[in-house]
Amino acid sequence: MRTQRQVVDYALQRRSLLAEVYSGRVGTMDVCDASPYLLRAAKFHGQPTDLTCPVCRKEPLTNVAWVYGDALKHASGSARAPEELARMATLFEEFTVYVVEVCRTCAWNHLVQSYVLGTRGLRDPKPRRRTAAE
Ligand SMILES: [Zn+2]
Repeated sequence: MRTQRQVVDYALQRRSLLAEVYSGRVGTMDVCDASPYLLRAAKFHGQPTDLTCPVCRKEPLTNVAWVYGDALKHASGSARAPEELARMATLFEEFTVYVVEVCRTCAWNHLVQSYVLGTRGLRDPKPRRRTAAE
């Protein structure tokens, strides 16, 4: 998306948590705890990925994007489909998107990425080109 900025990737945290799970130091009960609300959001607003669930390996993960920001008012804290994010990026100055991966079979969930969207990112920081008259 054109206005995407301040991208933070959580792959490292995800990997170390999964290492704890595979070694048995962390129980699957503790990490497969997606709330009914999150599972519902995955069903209705999620985007299917081609990544298989790292815990149950039974189905591909679904990514759910949650939006937060003062500019969003009552919409802050809701899950949004990708096409809605694109539309909102042109309507609001700034809001943060948190992408969470969810397994709808075993309820594994983890933060994947966060980033900022909004029209503020459209401002061109480059100086304008000088004309011959200047
Ligand atoms: Zn799973």
